[in-house]
Amino acid sequence: MIEQQLRVPGPTPLPSRVVRAGSRPMINHRGPEFAALLEELVNGFRWALRTRNDVLLFPASGTGGLEAAVVNVLDPGERALFCVMGSFGERWAAIGDAYGADVVRLTVPAGEPIDPEDVDRILAEHGDIRTVFVTHNETSTGVVNDLPAIAAVVKSRGKLLCVDSVSGASCLPLDNDALRVDVLVTGSQKGWMAPPGVAIVAVSPDAYARADIARIPRFYFDFAREKKYQDRNQTFTTPAVSVMYALQEGIAMLREEGLENVWRRHARVGRMVRAGIEAIGLRLLAADGHRSDTVTAVHAPTDTPERLKELLAHLRTRYGLVLAGGQGDLQGKIFRIGHLGMIDESDVYSVLSLLEQGLADVGLQTRIGLATAAAQAAARTDIPAAEPAAVG
Ligand code: PLP
Repeated sequence: MIEQQLRVPGPTPLPSRVVRAGSRPMINHRGPEFAALLEELVNGFRWALRTRNDVLLFPASGTGGLEAAVVNVLDPGERALFCVMGSFGERWAAIGDAYGADVVRLTVPAGEPIDPEDVDRILAEHGDIRTVFVTHNETSTGVVNDLPAIAAVVKSRGKLLCVDSVSGASCLPLDNDALRVDVLVTGSQKGWMAPPGVAIVAVSPDAYARADIARIPRFYFDFAREKKYQDRNQTFTTPAVSVMYALQEGIAMLREEGLENVWRRHARVGRMVRAGIEAIGLRLLAADGHRSDTVTAVHAPTDTPERLKELLAHLRTRYGLVLAGGQGDLQGKIFRIGHLGMIDESDVYSVLSLLEQGLADVGLQTRIGLATAAAQAAARTDIPAAEPAAVG
């Protein structure tokens, strides 16, 4: 039997150290061992997100973190701007709808980023908007936003900024405090190399101040109550202890490698994947200059969704390579390669050569070897990862 090579954009493969850490015996979550674990984790997240803000950990998937942001900062009926580049931006806006906010959607076609000038225009048109919600890295389309430029616009107008960096944080350059992000959301199952189950939410003093007066009903995700508990190194509810042990090990691995090196590795791996895909004549969905270093979305090599399904099933059953399909309207039209968390050059060569082999097996490609050759050339053109820009 072949071992699966999981290359969907989350959950990501677990390093064996992380698996071992996640299988430790249970502890009392009101005892000293847990207090030490929580303190170390929060400090680790502060380090990786470059923030002095509180980092609240909720037992939830990333969507829980998105919901937490909405319910803590908005009033029912309040107008708020949601930037939508794909399914996850749309999910955040739908949470706003569900809680009765007056949602203004800035929607761009799949593959396009958010234009900071559009954000500025909408904020100028609607002076009553107090909060902007934006996805850092849209996992459904493989598009990364120019977050510093968007943050600069939002902050120059004195608005609250909420960022979904579920599939960006720890992998892509990000400096939470330089960008003055008020609520930043990420999830344990992505770049942190841990299983799903913990939503990580960094909350600024301004966001707490808003939460004090915001009137959308909330219970589970109440920032103020959670802060009270986490200030004492406890959590309000029973925490996801095993996932937290796994996160502790994932963060230890990030610290050993060094944050800029982690960013650089993702930049290299992203470049290799894109070069390989283009070398075999496949087209990338994301606009040039906004292609994500954690996930690549590729137009299907065939017009028929059934053939794409056949290709993905063949890769999985014959070679153990698990790639992701498209979501929503993009189902049957694209496939996605996740390259975040535990991944390095050797994994990219493996993914690309299996993809080429799979394409040949199902009759969608005749030549093989082009992708890995292009990836090799791309790996050699190492450029330093961009330092995250500050917002004045
Ligand atoms: N936002 C982004 C950008 C994501 O990639 C995901 C999950 O893939 C989510 C939000 C939702 O996270 P979850 O599936 O953990 O609820």
